[in-house]
Amino acid sequence: MDNIEDLFFESLSESEPQISEASAPSRLKAKIYSVLVRRQAQSGPLATLSSSQDSGRSLCIFEQLVQISPLPDRVQSFNYCQVCHARLLAEYFENAPIYWSGCPYVRFQNR
Ligand SMILES: [Zn+2]
Repeated sequence: MDNIEDLFFESLSESEPQISEASAPSRLKAKIYSVLVRRQAQSGPLATLSSSQDSGRSLCIFEQLVQISPLPDRVQSFNYCQVCHARLLAEYFENAPIYWSGCPYVRFQNR
């Protein structure tokens, strides 16, 4: 029969470490994103919607509507998600009920 110390160390080695994955609140991530994009826009024009999409970023539904319209580049460089109601939901509600693909605020939800 094993002694009590052997049993104790065997039970320690068999148990999985309980490490919980900490995640920042989705509201905080949304607010930080909004500030970063605002500051980026202050330093110069943002990338156009087409160049953003070409670099691998998905466009949200509102950005897609602007992209298919015949508007000049300076209008295509505006951050439309800044005036989208998804931004407000994401900044004020944890795990906001927004689901449309391509919107950066959806990606910040902890789901
Ligand atoms: Zn959006």
